Amino acid sequence: MSDAFEVKSDPGLWEKLGMDVERFSGMPPMLTNAYRNIFLSQKNRPERMAYFDDMVANIHTGRIQEICDAKEGGKPVIGTFCVYVPEELVVAAGGICIGLCGGAQGSIGDAEKILPRNICPMVKSAFGFKVGKICPYFQVVDLVYGETTCDAKKKTWELLDRYVPTHVMEIPQMKRERDKRLWMEEVKDFKVAVDRITGNETDFEAVAGGIRTINAKRAALQRLNALRHHNPSPISGRDMLIIQQIAFYDEPVRFTEKVHELCDELEKRVQDGVAIAPKETPRILVSGTPMALPNWKLHYIIESAGAVVVNEESCIGTRYYKDLIDEGSADLDQQVERLTERYMKIDCSCFTPNDDRIDQVIREFEASGAEGVIDYCLQFCHTYNIEAVKLREACEARGIPFMAIETDYSPDDVGQLQTRVEAFIEQIKG
Ligand code: SF4
Ligand code: SF4
Repeated sequence: MSDAFEVKSDPGLWEKLGMDVERFSGMPPMLTNAYRNIFLSQKNRPERMAYFDDMVANIHTGRIQEICDAKEGGKPVIGTFCVYVPEELVVAAGGICIGLCGGAQGSIGDAEKILPRNICPMVKSAFGFKVGKICPYFQVVDLVYGETTCDAKKKTWELLDRYVPTHVMEIPQMKRERDKRLWMEEVKDFKVAVDRITGNETDFEAVAGGIRTINAKRAALQRLNALRHHNPSPISGRDMLIIQQIAFYDEPVRFTEKVHELCDELEKRVQDGVAIAPKETPRILVSGTPMALPNWKLHYIIESAGAVVVNEESCIGTRYYKDLIDEGSADLDQQVERLTERYMKIDCSCFTPNDDRIDQVIREFEASGAEGVIDYCLQFCHTYNIEAVKLREACEARGIPFMAIETDYSPDDVGQLQTRVEAFIEQIKG
């Protein structure tokens, strides 16, 4: 299996998308090697992971072709960088919503020719993908939607707009009634902008359909996450991570179906006592900033050190799917209101105060049967970094082993992180 796996190439397609084909040609072999080493080298993986492996194999070809075809059929294709942008409204308009956050070191150099170096690697990586013309998803979108969650992002959008039409939603920083009203206006504006691309106004039925589709996707991920909490875990943390990353670029109905098929297999594995690691394997909850594709660094370090990741309290994790939208609205206004309410429950550290997140981490720690928390912060992400102080206090008050890590995408600190993670796992083992 491992040797047969290959991330596919399609230089003709990339050429049509205006990419730097020569430079990008090196990407699929690199990704192939990394995926074989990190994912396919695992023993006893669930068979239904085959679909997700295939999604990675087709990440730069088959899925891109599908999106191009949809676009030719008049469907809007919108790129986003944050789980605040309501994908239900894109799906309601018949469109495709693609997460464009960057998780690769390879595009950072492109970004640093323009942006300052001392900003979050996720922002630099995404920006570098566009300016270097080395991401087919960036090339295929009609427009991108940024937001004002953090300083690095909101100022980068002004520059990104020079390369791709970039709209910005204002995300409030507090959760008072007046902030909710502001957010509802932003959501309404977003709907108008999406409808403008199709030339049709999405009606009540269409929005209801969009909400059902994305609720179903989030519910499938909830089911999957609950199953992996079983001890011994029927699936590894890194396989869970890749599925949660694929959630941001796959077709949602198909993805939901495939997640349920995997869940059926995991239920059987749980019944039969088939696991990815023995019951006594130390169990880690990872909290903090999102890990965008292909950022697998921390999960690989943790699981190579003999532990298993049993939960991601992250936007590429539970923060994306823990809340659903009430489907019982009577009219369009109520739909938008309920959608807004659901999005205001997202506990990003850009909010103040944000104690709900601390409580949420503790709840997930208990539900997942984790034995320690590793809080993951991307370099220069001040809000998550500072929030780690309160999270540490909450964990320590409950006797929960806690470690905070601040890192970027470079391999330079891997040795140091390995040492720290190994010591943390020893501490858990007692
Ligand atoms: S961490 Fe905050 S800014 Fe980043 S994707 Fe999540 S909600 Fe958006
Ligand atoms: S991880 Fe932090 S700094 Fe980076 S984009 Fe997200 S909110 Fe901004």
